[in-house]
Amino acid sequence: MRWTERQRALLEAMGLRLWLPAAAPQPEPVLESVHESVHESATAPDARAFNTPAFDAPPAAPVPIAPAPTAPAAARRPAGVATMDWAALREAVAGCTACKLCQGRRQTVFGVGNEQARWMIVGEAPGEQEDRQGEPFVGKSGQLLDNMLRAIGLTRSPDEPSRQVYIANTLKCRPPGNRNPEPEELAQCEPFLIRQIELIRPRIILAMGRFAVQSLLRSHEPIGRLRGRVHRYQGVPLIVTYHPAYLLRNLEDKARAWDDLCLARETFAALPAEGHA
Ligand code: URA
Repeated sequence: MRWTERQRALLEAMGLRLWLPAAAPQPEPVLESVHESVHESATAPDARAFNTPAFDAPPAAPVPIAPAPTAPAAARRPAGVATMDWAALREAVAGCTACKLCQGRRQTVFGVGNEQARWMIVGEAPGEQEDRQGEPFVGKSGQLLDNMLRAIGLTRSPDEPSRQVYIANTLKCRPPGNRNPEPEELAQCEPFLIRQIELIRPRIILAMGRFAVQSLLRSHEPIGRLRGRVHRYQGVPLIVTYHPAYLLRNLEDKARAWDDLCLARETFAALPAEGHA
């Protein structure tokens, strides 16, 4: 398939160049088939990524998985999160003092998008801009995320639920200095994300970065070993990919992220029609 000007522009916006080396021309990259984009000689495309990771990215340092919430701290989070509706959940997040992050936040960052979204994006934690504006992914990594979404026909802006995603983070408060989330913070915040997923009931989840992935999949494996296949969260297909902030620093992995998006799009397209799941 030939790349349209629009597709080229979107990939450029993701920072992906469609380069064809002058000395050794390559075939045009294929947009529609993730198999072909991953396997140069795709002899057995179906054996692809559902079983084996496509690439080994540099391993990330293992991060402890969040322990179950401890009783005293859990008491500072409003009770009954698991049965809250949207309004109650928003209020509970806004008033949460279950961990020390509440002391440094300007505001909580709940989530944004369509509450009936078919696609849910899960990131890590608010940064400085998100803490100021109260919306996830509004800084530089947010621009890249928006471009990535646009490249596969999705948006955070108002649209119908098949195109407008919902974006949430594992943490609702900014860790100071954008440090990594701590296990206790992840454990305290986790019930909010779990409830958001239950309320949205997305058809597919894109988990970006190791904290999202480790929270949802309970896995210590680095992203490079988890990406390239379809996981499940409570039965919902979950695709693992790099965090946009990581991609801004590691441009060479953007092509892999593009493969992940293609896998997500293919997985979504292959889902049974709604109402027949
Ligand atoms: N990184 C995230 O994971 N989430 C945000 O909201 C912003 C940056």
